[in-house]
Amino acid sequence: MLNIDHLGIAVKSLTQARKFYEALGVAVAKEEIVAHEKVKVAMVPMGESRIELLEAIEPDSVIAKFIEKRGEGLHHVALHVPDLPAAVKSLKEGGTRFVTEEIKIGAGGHRYVFVHPSSAGGVLVELVEEQK
Ligand code: ZN
Repeated sequence: MLNIDHLGIAVKSLTQARKFYEALGVAVAKEEIVAHEKVKVAMVPMGESRIELLEAIEPDSVIAKFIEKRGEGLHHVALHVPDLPAAVKSLKEGGTRFVTEEIKIGAGGHRYVFVHPSSAGGVLVELVEEQK
């Protein structure tokens, strides 16, 4: 069974965005920089899932471009898969498009890859696997 690992939300300011969740009594995790994505990330625990707040740290970050075009908002849905290389292989065989083919390492050391929205009902989907 797959779970929703997290929902990624593009925000202009983590400092501002985390206040909403903190006002609801949620302990927002410490901010982390993911240098190769040019973002600063704060995870908001939500039961078995999480909300990932994303702020651009460079003007050419995908998050900066997203906000410029569409404003703040839901950026991606991340699904937790037990075996990422196997999932990627089977999706590729079915003709699924990926944003980049290469599996990357994200905040907290998990492995991830992005499925192109054209293959997932117009939604940017991230596939995530815990680092073993
Ligand atoms: Zn994410």
